[in-house]
Amino acid sequence: MNTLVCGDCWREQNLTFAQRLDPAFIRPGIRYLCPEHLARRDELLGRTGFGKTAA
Ligand SMILES: [Zn+2]
Repeated sequence: MNTLVCGDCWREQNLTFAQRLDPAFIRPGIRYLCPEHLARRDELLGRTGFGKTAA
């Protein structure tokens, strides 16, 4: 039974706020995100698209 740990949840639980902002602590290997963080990431990506929201 393999338990996948959400990358963002892992950082929140194991790193301090300052460490989370440090690129040295970013783990590119962790790609799994829980549904909550996945939705949040999609939301951020959708909003940061320049030119897309120009009506
Ligand atoms: Zn998460």
